[in-house]
Amino acid sequence: MTMSKRPKILIIYTGGTIGMIENPETRALQPFNFDHLMDNVPKVKKLDYDIDNIQFTPPIDSSNMDPTHWRDIALAIEEHYDRYDGFVVLHGTDTMAFTASALSFMLENLSKPVIITGSQLPIGEVRTDGEENLITALQVAAAIDEKGRPRVQEVAILFENYLWRGNRATKMSADNFNAFKSFNYPELAEIGLDIEYNEASLRKMPPRPLRVCTDMDTNVMFLELNPGMTEQTLDYLLHTPGIKGIVLKTYGAGNTPSHPWFIKCIKEAVERGVVIVNVTQCVNGGVNCTLYETGKALLDAGVISGADMTSEAAITKLMFLFGMRYSPSMVKKYMVSDLCGELTMS
Ligand code: ASP
Repeated sequence: MTMSKRPKILIIYTGGTIGMIENPETRALQPFNFDHLMDNVPKVKKLDYDIDNIQFTPPIDSSNMDPTHWRDIALAIEEHYDRYDGFVVLHGTDTMAFTASALSFMLENLSKPVIITGSQLPIGEVRTDGEENLITALQVAAAIDEKGRPRVQEVAILFENYLWRGNRATKMSADNFNAFKSFNYPELAEIGLDIEYNEASLRKMPPRPLRVCTDMDTNVMFLELNPGMTEQTLDYLLHTPGIKGIVLKTYGAGNTPSHPWFIKCIKEAVERGVVIVNVTQCVNGGVNCTLYETGKALLDAGVISGADMTSEAAITKLMFLFGMRYSPSMVKKYMVSDLCGELTMS
C-alpha cells in the first residue's frame, strides 16, 4: 500500500498589509504577529499539509525591505530547502516585485516553488483578499505534476486571479485586488474555479544543487528621464559617488533627447566604467535601440539594452551581478543574457 505524502510547506512571513491590524489609538495600520495571521485563516487547517512558519521580528512594511532582508529570505530557503516541498513568502505589495526579482537571481538552480503573496486588505478584514491569496499560494506551493515533480520550479507572485513569474511582474494598482501584472510574459497560471497552469510558460529546471548567492551591491540606481531635465541635473546624477550601475528609464522604445550634451554626459559615464542599462518607462513592450536615431545614439555611446526586462528585474540584476564582483564588461555581458527567465532573447 502506498501512503500519500502530505506536502510540507514553509511559510516565511515578512510583514505587509496581509498581517496588519489597526492601531486602536492612531487608526494607522501596523504589522502584527503571525499567530494573529493564522488565527484569522482557520481554513488553512483544512488543507492536509504540514505547514511550518518562520517570521521576521518585527514584521515589516515592505517599503522598508532591502537587500539584507532578501538575504534573510534566501538563507532561510537554503537552510530548509531539502525539508520542504515548497515555500510561501508573505510580503507587502509595495516592493514585492523587487523581492521576487532579487530572489530569482539569488536562488540559482531553484527547482522548488517559492510563491510570494500578500494582500490589499488586512487578513482580519471581512472583505480581505489575503485569505484567498494565502490559501491559493499554499496550494500552488504544494502542487505536483503526474511525475511527482513540483509544478512551479521558480520564484512566482500569486495575486488574486494570476500566478506571475516573479521577475516579470510589476505592481500595477494601489487598490485593485488584481494588483500585479506581467506585460511581457504570459501568466504561469490563472486562478478561477481551478488553478489552470500554463505549462508552456512554466520554467522547468534539471535537478541541480541549489546555489544561493546573497551579496547584492547597492551602488546602483534608477535614472528616470523627464522632459526638461537639465545638463546639470543629468551630469550630477551620473557623477553620484560610488555608482556602478544605472537603469536609465527612457521613453517608448528606448528613446532619449538627442542633444549633444545629453549623449556626451552618458558617454563619459560609460567611459568612467558605469554600466548603463536602457529600460523603457512603458509597462508594455521593450527597448529596441535600432528603431530611432536617439536609441541608436545611446547604443553607440555604450549603453546596453534592457530589452523587455521590468525595471525591478533590471535593477536587482545589476545589484546581483556587481555583488558577484564581476567587471563592468562581464556585467554588461550578463545583463543582455537571460539568467532565469527575466528577459526575452531576440
Ligand atoms: N505598505 C504595504 C507594504 O508593502 C502595502 C501592502 O502590503 O500592500 O508592506
